[in-house]
Amino acid sequence: MKLENSIYEGLSQYGEVGPYLKRIIRNGVISTVDTQMIIDHDDFHAIEQGKVLPSEQQAPFNEIEQNIENLLEGFAAKGLVNNNFHALVTNFGKLLFSFIASDAQIGEVDSWHQQGIAQFGGFLMADGGGPSIQQWNTIFTKDGDMLELDVDKVWIIEGHRLDYGSISAASTQKLYPSSVLVPPEEFKKLTKTAVGMPFLDGSLQLGNVSGKVRVAKTNLLTGGGLASTSVFLSKVRPRFVRALMGHVQWLQNNERIELSVEQLLAVQQLEAIARCYCHSLVERKPSLPVALAIKFVSNRILLDLVISGAVKQPMIQRDLMAFTRMEGSSYRCLFEIYSKTKVR
Ligand SMILES: Cc1cc2nc3c(=O)[nH]c(=O)nc-3n(C[C@H](O)[C@H](O)[C@H](O)COP(=O)(O)OP(=O)(O)OC[C@H]3O[C@@H](n4cnc5c(N)ncnc54)[C@H](O)[C@@H]3O)c2cc1C
Repeated sequence: MKLENSIYEGLSQYGEVGPYLKRIIRNGVISTVDTQMIIDHDDFHAIEQGKVLPSEQQAPFNEIEQNIENLLEGFAAKGLVNNNFHALVTNFGKLLFSFIASDAQIGEVDSWHQQGIAQFGGFLMADGGGPSIQQWNTIFTKDGDMLELDVDKVWIIEGHRLDYGSISAASTQKLYPSSVLVPPEEFKKLTKTAVGMPFLDGSLQLGNVSGKVRVAKTNLLTGGGLASTSVFLSKVRPRFVRALMGHVQWLQNNERIELSVEQLLAVQQLEAIARCYCHSLVERKPSLPVALAIKFVSNRILLDLVISGAVKQPMIQRDLMAFTRMEGSSYRCLFEIYSKTKVR
């Protein structure tokens, strides 16, 4: 299918895509496409890499991105266990916040940390009502200068022990999501429960958050539109994939999984492709389709490690399967690539 070629060509711009990766892409596309994609199967443009920026717009990584780059060098040696997953995700959160919050809002959050009012903040998107915004239970209504927020969020990193958060909520017409910063004194009023067994040797717990809060309209995170979320995701997904490919190598080095020679090579190839893409961001615009393609292939590798029997321990199988859902499931990635590359 041309969709498969789009992914292959998109990744090849950044590094070698060997026979195993090619096979994984093909199998992945064939087993993930929906009816519409099958019917439209020959209507695709290749995935394009981000345009080279004019020299005056090129920029080195900012401090947060540089911190993430530094962390990413170590995952093959330390894995995502202990506090390593959280250190990475905290920096992802800071990067997202820098896109969606005003300077005053960033200053406010910093002051909560400095005063010891808050320790953990989260980004609450996944909704108890379902995946599409029309199904969301989390809704905000305006009341003069205030916002009333009905909250029903699920599967949030350390959701059961958050002190504050940026909550994605639908307007009453459920047309678009807005992000609302809920400060510690209101966040306290929400019900928070741990959900499911922890991941990563007990070091990562998800939680659900629900209830009602009231915040000032000025707590809307006005930079949180679809465009800034896209830029954020196209910077973060490939970095998450680099961490995952590092974690897989850590599992292998510690004899907790048993990869074949070609599986290990594929993990290293995808890590190199994702690294090359990330390093190109100093001179190129981020490309959402490339980022989606990288996450799609990462998902397919992780699933293949489980399916092929390379991962024997059930809890490690569960970890790897969970990471195929976080920051983009295979279906979501493929659907978005399909939508963005389809000839209109
Ligand atoms: C470890 C972990 C940490 C997480 N942390 C957070 C967090 O901090 N904050 C947060 O908000 N969320 C978090 N999540 C939730 C995560 O971001 C996703 O919302 C969740 O995993 C669901 O992903 P999804 O919507 O992409 O997809 P999916 O469950 O794949 O799919 C969504 C919908 O797409 C459709 N679909 C799926 N597959 C197909 C198919 N093959 N054909 C046709 N239709 C299909 C279905 O309608 C499905 O309901 C976390 C999840 C995990 C596992």
